Amino acid sequence: LYARNFFIEYANRIYKEFPDKPMDAVVINIDQFHAVNALKGRDFGDQVLKTLGEAIRSYFYDKDGISARIGSDGFAVYCKHMDNYKPLLIHLEGSLDRIEHNTGIRLRMGIMQRQDKVEPSQQFERAHTACNIARGNYRGRIIVFDDKMREREIFEQRILNDLRRALAEKEFEVYYQPKYDIQAETPKLESAEALVRWNHHELGVISPTDFIPLFEKHGQIEALDKYVWEQAVKQISEWRDKYGIVIPVSVNLSRVDIFDPDLESSLDKLIEQYGLERSVLQLEVTESAYTDNTYQVIAVVESLRKKGYVIEMDDFGSGYSSLCMLSSMPIDVLKMDKAFIRNIEHDEKEVQFVKLILDIAKNLKVPVIAEGVETEPQLKLLKKLGCALVQGYYFSPPLLPEQFEKLI
Ligand code: C2E
Ligand code: CA
Ligand code: CA
Repeated sequence: LYARNFFIEYANRIYKEFPDKPMDAVVINIDQFHAVNALKGRDFGDQVLKTLGEAIRSYFYDKDGISARIGSDGFAVYCKHMDNYKPLLIHLEGSLDRIEHNTGIRLRMGIMQRQDKVEPSQQFERAHTACNIARGNYRGRIIVFDDKMREREIFEQRILNDLRRALAEKEFEVYYQPKYDIQAETPKLESAEALVRWNHHELGVISPTDFIPLFEKHGQIEALDKYVWEQAVKQISEWRDKYGIVIPVSVNLSRVDIFDPDLESSLDKLIEQYGLERSVLQLEVTESAYTDNTYQVIAVVESLRKKGYVIEMDDFGSGYSSLCMLSSMPIDVLKMDKAFIRNIEHDEKEVQFVKLILDIAKNLKVPVIAEGVETEPQLKLLKKLGCALVQGYYFSPPLLPEQFEKLI
């Protein structure tokens, strides 16, 4: 196959010299390739890549198309427009099944058709976007870039360009969602999680799930997270002055924050400035943040923990930590992913999973927070099973400080 740079140059040539040729940009990816490597070994992984490369090349041998490997498990094809990509998918997956009977390896494809004034590099970017959407599997494994995605792209570009202004104009608001100790005789307010909302002057309220992953992906989350941490620390000190009690607040750390060499000093500065103990600022690190560079992440988190910050492992159970790694991970609290709670009233299997997590936590000697608790039966069950803390709509949604104060 061609190398990436040569491929793009070649595509540019075709684009310029044959302006009327309807060319498609196709991006092909292997689902869960890291798992293939992990389960079957790198030699097998290499064989998969070679076989796939060969199958792509042979498929386009007598058709109008060029192909390249563009990433670890990513391939690209620039070819004359095809109405149906299913035969290609079947051909490629079929070739993998010849390495080993029923490998079960699945591919996904993103396609962007030729459009006026869209050069190949941009056409491939969009094919890539479409391919990433195919990752979720729910809309099929062949996705063609369409107007809706174009709109999403414009929306994303817009909010990415808007972060600085929004920070300066204080459009971000920090909400607080209470966490309750449920083992006390009556539930007792214990702490809170700080959750950000964007009150956009034109777009209205934007949910963090719409902008956090985007800022993370584009390396822009730090400024926003730092803003949220400062608000949280300030809030703890205001409540302390007003009510004479200290309510610990947890904030979310992104992966990028963890690799920021100034993380510790930024947090220390805040704690000092507002005259607080480190233990009142709890840091939520998602389980998935530990997945790559596990040892590096552990080192950073361990150092924060030794200084007195409380570490919560967020979304526990949704990531890939191995059980034996868990015992060496520096954590003070396990925060069970909301997915476990959703069905516990109706599904005995789910109850068993929750028990399992509580058992793991017991072995690690850390308490468990259940999040996403919405109903009384869920609460009662969790209390019976020995879960220490609960956060969720049953008690309260995330609130503005004025509203939160009513709970104190
Ligand atoms: P998360 O850390 O898992 O936060 C919990 C999410 O669950 C929040 O969504 C919260 O509103 C929601 N939730 C709480 N109780 C219930 C319930 O009973 N039922 C259901 N269905 N949902 C409940 P939110 O506020 O939309 O935040 C989404 C995610 O955005 C957060 O997930 C967190 O990963 C991220 N996020 C929010 N604020 C920040 C921030 O300041 N910095 C960073 N890096 N990430 C943030
Ligand atoms: Ca969280
Ligand atoms: Ca969570």
